[in-house]
Amino acid sequence: MACIFCHIIAGRAPAHIVYRDEQAIVFHDIRPAAPVHLLIAPIRHIASLNELEEGDGALLAHMLLLAPRLAEQQGIRGAGYRLVINTGVGGGQTIPHLHFHLLGGRSFSAQMTGRMAD
Ligand code: AMP
Ligand code: ZN
Repeated sequence: MACIFCHIIAGRAPAHIVYRDEQAIVFHDIRPAAPVHLLIAPIRHIASLNELEEGDGALLAHMLLLAPRLAEQQGIRGAGYRLVINTGVGGGQTIPHLHFHLLGGRSFSAQMTGRMAD
């Protein structure tokens, strides 16, 4: 049984997709916590950071390098933005398919201990 992000990747669930290639997909978060709130996810179903394997370094780098490109596309590269990876239930992860939150378009607290949206 595929997860909701796998359904989006397969075109079986709707999403506002802004970027896609063989390795990654990027779409708007359905409940944005900031004016810009994108989700960067691997095409392959990986449940979380905990399930990454030794050979996934290039995939991770690829996903990370998408962030400044997307920030540029969204007009927030210069102003600054935040990347968040929630991992596991205790880490606030609700969708069991690895994703980076790209948040921007407003200011965030400099503290690392606040909520993602603070
Ligand atoms: P996390 O809590 O880190 O697992 O983040 C999951 C994110 O996915 C939340 O911010 C949700 O608002 C978002 N989300 C859940 N379902 C969808 C969907 N169908 N399309 C877009 N974003 C979604
Ligand atoms: Zn999935």
